[in-house]
Amino acid sequence: MSEPLESDPSLLVVVLDVNASAWSKSPLTVGNALQQMVIFINAYLALKPENKLVVLASNKRECKCLYPVDRANATIERDIRVYEQFRVVDATVLSGVQAMLSGAEETVGDPNRGIEEGQTLMSRALSKALCHIHRVVDSTTSKVWSRILVLSAADDSPREYISLMNTIFAAQRMSVLIDICKVFGGDSVFLQQAAEITGGNYLKVDTAGGESMLQTLMFTCLADHYTREVLVAPTNETIDFRATCFCHKRVVDIGYVCSVCLSIFCEMAPVCSTCQTKFSFRIARAESAQSNGTLKQSPKPAAATAAMSTLTLS
Ligand SMILES: [Zn+2]
Ligand SMILES: [Zn+2]
Repeated sequence: MSEPLESDPSLLVVVLDVNASAWSKSPLTVGNALQQMVIFINAYLALKPENKLVVLASNKRECKCLYPVDRANATIERDIRVYEQFRVVDATVLSGVQAMLSGAEETVGDPNRGIEEGQTLMSRALSKALCHIHRVVDSTTSKVWSRILVLSAADDSPREYISLMNTIFAAQRMSVLIDICKVFGGDSVFLQQAAEITGGNYLKVDTAGGESMLQTLMFTCLADHYTREVLVAPTNETIDFRATCFCHKRVVDIGYVCSVCLSIFCEMAPVCSTCQTKFSFRIARAESAQSNGTLKQSPKPAAATAAMSTLTLS
């Protein structure tokens, strides 16, 4: 992997969480947050003329690409006082988010595929972001350094854990940084891991306490791969590395791990529901009986046998 150069252009994919239910609890309004995000995007585009941008928006039901748009279908009025690209980005992003927010209100009560009202399809948005990145990187001859910025408002969706972790590891392999800006509510366990694994920043902005989202974004997320090598990034001291069980989609502190496919379960089971491996408890029980003189239900990992092993997640 080559080192980033100062002249290398960047590709930024902004993922906007536009879950109306989540934003209704926020001290920062969605309109205000979007205005600040648009200013940040304009600053990013102004840094280098070669910089590329993709804007995605996701809520509980859908994930849409807001920018770039098909120019033939775009109906944006001309204004000679504003730089063309700024105007197109501002207008398409703001109108696209408005359409998604009003659409969400109309379809309240639709089947939600196990995703709760206050949760967003984040794995789908990140997968789409990686597809856009792959397409742009593939179509350009010069080196483009990519990163994703997620403006997160909604809670984690444990149902998405597996797909989200797969997306995060794919991003890591593609050298794509994932920055997270969480504007209110509790920490997102999964997005914290996304930032940590890919080398991005996890920023929690206390908007209720008067912290500025725009200022935080400008100081930490505007820097490209080259600049980040000489900057001291904010450190995440308390990262929650807990996983979600594959059976009930619950975040667990201690789980059982399939020794074949590494699936995590909150309860001991005779057969792995992911890879259908049948666990042999005979050897584990024999070992346990020898050491303690009693028969224990808790299986221990045994060599050369498919046994479930316990894993403490901290
Ligand atoms: Zn479970
Ligand atoms: Zn398995």
